[in-house]
Amino acid sequence: MAPETISVRCCIAGGGPAGMMLGYLLARAGVQVLVLEKHADFLRDFRGDTIHPSTLEVMYELGLLEEFLRLPHQKVYELNAQVGQMEVTIADFRHLPTRCRFIALMPQWDFLNFLAEQAARFPSFALRMETEVTGLLQESGRVIGVHANAPSGMIEVRADLIVGADGRNSIVREKAGLKVKDYGAPMDVLWFRLGRSPDDPIATMGRFDAGRIFIMINRGEYWQCGYVIAKGRFEEMRRQEFTAFRDEISRLAPFARDRVGELRAWDNVKLLTVRVDRLLEWFQPGLLCIGDAAHAMSPVGGVGINLAIQDAVAAGNVLVKPLRQRQVTIDHLRQIQRRRELPTRVTQWLQVTVQRRIIARVLGDRRPFSPPLAIRLLATVPFFRRVPARIVGLGLRPEHVRPEIAHLGENSS
Ligand SMILES: Cc1cc2nc3c(=O)[nH]c(=O)nc-3n(C[C@H](O)[C@H](O)[C@H](O)COP(=O)(O)OP(=O)(O)OC[C@H]3O[C@@H](n4cnc5c(N)ncnc54)[C@H](O)[C@@H]3O)c2cc1C
Repeated sequence: MAPETISVRCCIAGGGPAGMMLGYLLARAGVQVLVLEKHADFLRDFRGDTIHPSTLEVMYELGLLEEFLRLPHQKVYELNAQVGQMEVTIADFRHLPTRCRFIALMPQWDFLNFLAEQAARFPSFALRMETEVTGLLQESGRVIGVHANAPSGMIEVRADLIVGADGRNSIVREKAGLKVKDYGAPMDVLWFRLGRSPDDPIATMGRFDAGRIFIMINRGEYWQCGYVIAKGRFEEMRRQEFTAFRDEISRLAPFARDRVGELRAWDNVKLLTVRVDRLLEWFQPGLLCIGDAAHAMSPVGGVGINLAIQDAVAAGNVLVKPLRQRQVTIDHLRQIQRRRELPTRVTQWLQVTVQRRIIARVLGDRRPFSPPLAIRLLATVPFFRRVPARIVGLGLRPEHVRPEIAHLGENSS
């Protein structure tokens, strides 16, 4: 049977933060857009629930902020950690030159559902869930569409532009043969949840000392916990008794000792392999990659979602007009990479530096960790906490929705 064929102006592979934000922006501007998401819903393994001040600013520019902040969330005004024996506030968001001077912690599925609902108000938006892109359609050296597996069978989508927003394991970038530079990561993260009790500390916290890195994020009723391990160590851990892992967590979070029994087996612990890489070129004729598909981000600093959203806003600003006029050129795509490459490059450099100078050293040495000068300065001079706050909260080149684009959507829903 011939596959169902669909024609749109823009087809986005992947309904993560990058894909859903770009889908929303294009639909709002009246561009016919189809987002293909391989999962049946937006529930996913924990990969950060952080909505940054810059994303909240974008929501404000789009007139969505008030409604968005009605969804349940927690506000984080500062990031704290114990590095070696030193308690340190790493970032203080209260001084940012922006409307919301906090990170909103919200389950990623709530954020993505919100974007999907808002986008669905525009007739030019379509989202197909359970539809996995499997390959690219190419003609005369240009990408002209994708193949995808949908519940109804194979479909073929033809579009003026294909956007790969399908994350770190992007099939789009692989099929396009785009070259990737890998920057390596010395660690992986084990994620799991522990119940929270009203007597527990309130602050989200991280502990970096004596061979161990442990993060606890306050999610109201539960703690989202991240236990960082040396890359590849999980297999060896799985061969040991699970009780040894539980004992370790009890030692690291004594106040939650009565709840570690909630962890029954390795099945309750999810391994997330960390990767840092970047495409040399984010585009080809007819194709653009954004978000993790263009540059996989380390969890260091929790900035990946932020960068993905910033890419989407920059792409929307450049692409709305040429997509409406059916005149997308390679120069438009190059312009997007030029705009986003430098902030991405610098952010990844900072992440790799922290991975090498702090994470690898803490994990590799069971002796007490002596914090480097930068951490000691953050602990003693509060003013310096504004720098990481800016990098994490706003990013190195915050993007704003162009007023004429934001204005377009006001009357088109
Ligand atoms: C352990 C860990 C913790 C992290 N913590 C944080 C944090 O606290 N804060 C933060 O900001 N960032 C964090 N990050 C980084 C962050 O998760 C990513 O940078 C961010 O999600 C990138 O968004 P994206 O939309 O580009 O890709 P993704 O979020 O990966 O979304 C891609 C989407 O594409 C879909 N997809 C994939 N393949 C296909 C296909 N073939 N067809 C159709 N759909 C497809 C996927 O199902 C997914 O929905 C963390 C990363 C890791 C590894």
